[in-house]
Amino acid sequence: MSLDRRYFLAGTGSAVVGLVGGAWSGGGAHARAPVSKSQVPGFYRFSLGQFQLTVVSDGTIAFPAEALWPEATKAERDAVLMSDFQPTDKSTLQLNVLAVNTGERLVLIDAGSRGKIKPQPTAGRLLQNLAAADIKPDEVDTVLITHAHPDHLWGVADATDTERTFPNAEYVIGEAELNFWMQPQHPLENHARWGGIYSQNMKTLAAIKDRIRTVRPDGEVVPGITAIATPGHTPGHTSVQIASGSSQLLCTADVVGHRAVSLQRPDWRVGFDLDLDQGAKTRRAFLDRCASEKVMVSTYHLPFPGIGHVVRAGTAFSWLSSDWSWDGVSPT
Ligand SMILES: [Zn+2]
Repeated sequence: MSLDRRYFLAGTGSAVVGLVGGAWSGGGAHARAPVSKSQVPGFYRFSLGQFQLTVVSDGTIAFPAEALWPEATKAERDAVLMSDFQPTDKSTLQLNVLAVNTGERLVLIDAGSRGKIKPQPTAGRLLQNLAAADIKPDEVDTVLITHAHPDHLWGVADATDTERTFPNAEYVIGEAELNFWMQPQHPLENHARWGGIYSQNMKTLAAIKDRIRTVRPDGEVVPGITAIATPGHTPGHTSVQIASGSSQLLCTADVVGHRAVSLQRPDWRVGFDLDLDQGAKTRRAFLDRCASEKVMVSTYHLPFPGIGHVVRAGTAFSWLSSDWSWDGVSPT
């Protein structure tokens, strides 16, 4: 028996007859291959000096384009989005949590949403993707919350805010950010967009209150990870510099939210920035720094895994994704 006859026929005589007598001959029913919607992987590893970094996805969220950039005309928005081959009706934002293993500490930068953003069932996948990446929640030493928005903060505790997701971690947050959200008679308490987020924030922050440490601008989160004050999106919004030896990475958090619009139109005021003018000013300054320093950049909302470089494009900027690395080594 020839090799290919053995391969197809061994123990499957009737199946082969079925195929020959069935679909291949044009008659009868046959099983169609199942259609899977899952994508693997939900994590991406690379190295930075002596540190190992793993981007772990919490999934995605999506918003109408006019909610993100409400002051631009539809024609202006469409032109930028179409130039990047993006849909013009709604924009999908990735949720790229960054795990940093410094050798001494395991640090998460942001915590995802843990499925609490109810109209967005595509979010809340952090725990399953951490498991896939072999990162155990009880091994996390530090969680840096860049700012107290649902997709960054709410994942620190379960659906009822009774159990911390990372039981042994300390939670580090910008001093100005914590002071803003904890102020009495909060200005956002009855706000149409932010009121519900404010009240959920209070519950979630209460779940970790005994474990919170605040950090000031340029303060150390842990050795090798430094806070950078980037106010505007929220008052105490914090970006991050990660350094190991001569290798460096800047982590934007929500200074940028979209590959095309944030870089091509950094001065557009963004609907989800609490201080619209300061948000735009911070965005241009931060992108300017990334381009000048030619430093590797990690982003929370850009296409997974959100690692790349910022380059100048006229008076604005452009995003260059790093090449995918299959061996967990430094991307280019
Ligand atoms: Zn965000």
